Amino acid sequence: MTYIDIHCHLDLLENISQVIENANNSGVEIILTQGINAETNRKALALAKEYKEVKACLGIYPIDALKMTDKEIDSEIAFIKANKKYIVAIGEVGMDFKEDDIDHERQKKIFTKFIALSIELDMPIIIHSRKAEKECIELLEKCNAMKVIMHCFCGKWKLVERIQKNGWFLTVPTSVTKSEQFQAIAQEVPLAQLFCETDSPYLHPDKIWPNEPANIVRSYLELARLRKISVEDGREIIRNNYLKLFKK
Ligand SMILES: [Zn+2]
Repeated sequence: MTYIDIHCHLDLLENISQVIENANNSGVEIILTQGINAETNRKALALAKEYKEVKACLGIYPIDALKMTDKEIDSEIAFIKANKKYIVAIGEVGMDFKEDDIDHERQKKIFTKFIALSIELDMPIIIHSRKAEKECIELLEKCNAMKVIMHCFCGKWKLVERIQKNGWFLTVPTSVTKSEQFQAIAQEVPLAQLFCETDSPYLHPDKIWPNEPANIVRSYLELARLRKISVEDGREIIRNNYLKLFKK
């Protein structure tokens, strides 16, 4: 029985060995760190090699992707394929329409490549969907993606239900302590379709900086409180979700 942090950015934290020790002391045994560009993908791989608790997810964040040429994106995808043995998922990828003047069509084109990559490698895909929630879901459905985790999902409730109907996963971030949206997800979404995440260094449960994987315990506590289950039962259910979706 163990705590799992399904989404964080370890490379953004200082003193990582201390962060891992804190996580161990809190019972966190699986930490998925995300790459968001060429540089952080390599850092994620190095961290996964260094620490047994850390597993790497590689991808290109939608905003970072727009700064790259198509050729650079394709070569990063080739790099990810070449390192498939050392990773557990594709992420963080998706679309972000927060800024008005952003190129939606190019984001769609790039995201489609990453969805295809996750299907080809038969790996889960971890999605960023800020202000593009419906568009992300539509594209994932069109591509028949199955192993989908919608990270920090802030879309409308009918979209939460659509994700649920598709058999995909949602997360309970540590900011569930303050967020009604995440409380509703923790309360309503079937436990068999949930993970917990810290999104460290972001989303600290007490709104301070930085967040770290040890705080994942706060998500599990809140989930247990809202669902009226024991923390142990919550841990077991989420561990089973992990074993079902991930190969390693
Ligand atoms: Zn993230």
